[in-house]
Amino acid sequence: MRVIRTVSDWKALKASPEFANKSLALVPTMGFLHQGHLSLVRATRARNERVAVSIFVNPTQFVPGEDLERYPRDEVRDIAMLDDEGVDCVFIPTVEEMYPDGFGTCVTPPPQGEGWCGASRPGHFPGVCTVVSILFNIIGPDTAYFGRKDAQQAAVIKQMTKDLHFPVRIVVRPTVRENDGLAMSSRNTYLSPEERAHALILYKTLNLGRKRYREGERSADVIVEEGRIQIETEPNVRLDYLGIVDQNTFKSVNTIVEGNYYIGAIFVGKARLIDNIVFTLTSNS
Ligand code: AMP
Repeated sequence: MRVIRTVSDWKALKASPEFANKSLALVPTMGFLHQGHLSLVRATRARNERVAVSIFVNPTQFVPGEDLERYPRDEVRDIAMLDDEGVDCVFIPTVEEMYPDGFGTCVTPPPQGEGWCGASRPGHFPGVCTVVSILFNIIGPDTAYFGRKDAQQAAVIKQMTKDLHFPVRIVVRPTVRENDGLAMSSRNTYLSPEERAHALILYKTLNLGRKRYREGERSADVIVEEGRIQIETEPNVRLDYLGIVDQNTFKSVNTIVEGNYYIGAIFVGKARLIDNIVFTLTSNS
């Protein structure tokens, strides 16, 4: 596996016979990898001849006062994990490489980025859109893989890719969970065992909402209100938001239909955690 740290080294590698004229997948990450990231890497295999993973803790998508400085990092372990997966190249640029002196552009997100995480974290989606645009232009993938764990981000990126005519196919893969249902996240490392147990309330609440839908409830207001009460009664947990949205527009719905997303964010200890599930009558996605 090649470990590449500069744009010029990547351009040289991409032009070499090893990469030239080969279909290329990109999995953008912020590192501190877990099985959720690796599921994206594995999904690339079927359709791509070469796989690149980027590791970059992007400062512009962190809001002032957030966890940029203490965001968990372990480059040696990440590289070993990706090597084991047979990844062809890992791109690990510095902040200066991505945002050199004089850098001044910001990509404004589409309306999918309004509300929810966009409201709680002003500046987050502009940072995401900007860094993903830079990565798409540097790496030049045919396909890029994202996780449904960050469903609003995926909706924002899909719309941005379409609007700006990036020649990149976007694939969104299901959320990978721990055995008890907690969505895997690099930020789970912030949780004490006790906080981790409380954090499960988010997934439990989303699941309960889906159960109510399967039993016949269709009112988004009713389900969200029940969920809000459930989360607010959990000790050591503070609700950020709960909502039921159309999976493409990320606008709230009144009447729940198949395929809508139930989305939520909570604060537990030092962590802010997000999760979502899909309203379906049958499968367990
Ligand atoms: P991050 O490193 O947290 O920025 O995540 C990089 C990519 O991995 C994003 O597309 C995330 O949506 C995806 N991802 C993170 N956690 C999970 C998970 N538990 N299951 C599936 N994909 C995930």
